[in-house]
Amino acid sequence: MAMSQSAVEPQPAKAAHAAFESWGRYPKYNANIVPLNWQGDFPGVLAGLHNGALPVGLGRSYGDVCLLKDGNLLQTTGMDRLLDFDPETGILTAEAGVSLAKILDFAVPRGFFLPVTPGTKYVTLGGAIACDIHGKNHEAAGSFGNHVPSFELVRSDGSRRLCSPTQNSDWYAATIGGMGLTGVITWAQLKLRPIVSRKIDYEGIQFHGIDEFLDLKQRYQNVEYTVSWVDCASTGRNFARGIFMLGEHSKAPGELKPSPEPKLVFPFDLPGFALNHTTVSLFNSVFFHKQMKAHVKTVQDYEPFFYPLDAVLHWNRMYGSRGLVQFQYAIPWQAGIMLALDFPIKPDLTFPLLKRLGDMTLEFGGRLYSAKDAAMTPAQFQAFYPQWQQFAQYRDPRLNSSFWERVTGGGSTL
Ligand SMILES: Cc1cc2nc3c(=O)[nH]c(=O)nc-3n(C[C@H](O)[C@H](O)[C@H](O)COP(=O)(O)OP(=O)(O)OC[C@H]3O[C@@H](n4cnc5c(N)ncnc54)[C@H](O)[C@@H]3O)c2cc1C
Repeated sequence: MAMSQSAVEPQPAKAAHAAFESWGRYPKYNANIVPLNWQGDFPGVLAGLHNGALPVGLGRSYGDVCLLKDGNLLQTTGMDRLLDFDPETGILTAEAGVSLAKILDFAVPRGFFLPVTPGTKYVTLGGAIACDIHGKNHEAAGSFGNHVPSFELVRSDGSRRLCSPTQNSDWYAATIGGMGLTGVITWAQLKLRPIVSRKIDYEGIQFHGIDEFLDLKQRYQNVEYTVSWVDCASTGRNFARGIFMLGEHSKAPGELKPSPEPKLVFPFDLPGFALNHTTVSLFNSVFFHKQMKAHVKTVQDYEPFFYPLDAVLHWNRMYGSRGLVQFQYAIPWQAGIMLALDFPIKPDLTFPLLKRLGDMTLEFGGRLYSAKDAAMTPAQFQAFYPQWQQFAQYRDPRLNSSFWERVTGGGSTL
């Protein structure tokens, strides 16, 4: 089934000065925003622009992978058309600026779902490929790139490459997880998975301590989606208590309709003192006891299961105007344990702590997740990703990011 392109004539892209923040709202850099509305806009938009450029999506990465200090951010969200869908194979072809939310609105009523989804649906297809995102089904499905049969990569020299596991496979591999540095992804294919209902068969199990958590992880290793919340504020008997959450797409046929728009918006930046040990402990206690029994089984809609945080738009304002940093690591412990921790920014405390946590991750043979990072040191990055110089050969000479400058010490080659 081919879908028609919009009949509106292409407009030349105009540059505009506007604030573009990553989700953590740290660091804050000035940049020139240049919309890419059509697949043919790049690289023409670079004419007359100074400094480097970086394609960006919805700015849902936390740190500086979607930022370029004093550079040009090529905002792809106007390039958001669905182009083709084959219900036999589940393969959707869409422009890279389309959000996963828009893909779900199209796919769910037709009995399809995303093969892998992050904890927010407000990310673009291009952003999901460039960060090679993971979901709650990581052990079963692998990362997002495993479900992308092909995409087009456009370079600043005007060359266009069709990339797939068999065509330009080196460019394909460098671009999946390439953090926007290899070129602009204009469109991509995504293999959706069939569903028969919006519902998720859900179980929530309280645990107390790491050993109980590991037992649960072992016991439920064959369940498709698993994720845990851990109370990091409690001490003593309640230390590392949490809720182990698991789910499968319901096999009982049910209603298939698009989701309603979220109604709640976090209205303003909370003052810095609002998040402190007392308020966080209180929140954690309420969250832990929200589940009244030690083990609950229920059927729930996919929205609260996959996207609980999307119910309140701009919830990052809760951390105040200074913003937040997330520390997300994976270590090869059992099948691979991953933990993500949010920290409000306290200049003298946060960064020394993150440096120490990064060094500990290295010591345990783990890695940090670049899409969530604002603090990795060059030495840490280069140890986590020893192939970085090989990757650098695929970088487009006109593209750059503040992340790349930070972790390699290399500026734009313009
Ligand atoms: C609440 C929340 C929950 C999250 N949960 C998860 C999770 O569970 N798992 C996970 O993996 N991530 C998660 N993330 C992170 C998020 O999924 C990724 O950072 C994602 O890449 C953001 O997509 P975006 O469209 O906002 O891209 P941006 O943040 O704008 O950009 C991200 C990267 O993609 C590149 N890029 C964007 N578009 C293109 C393009 N067309 N061509 C080439 N490069 C491009 C940019 O240069 C940049 O390097 C979460 C984020 C939030 C806010």
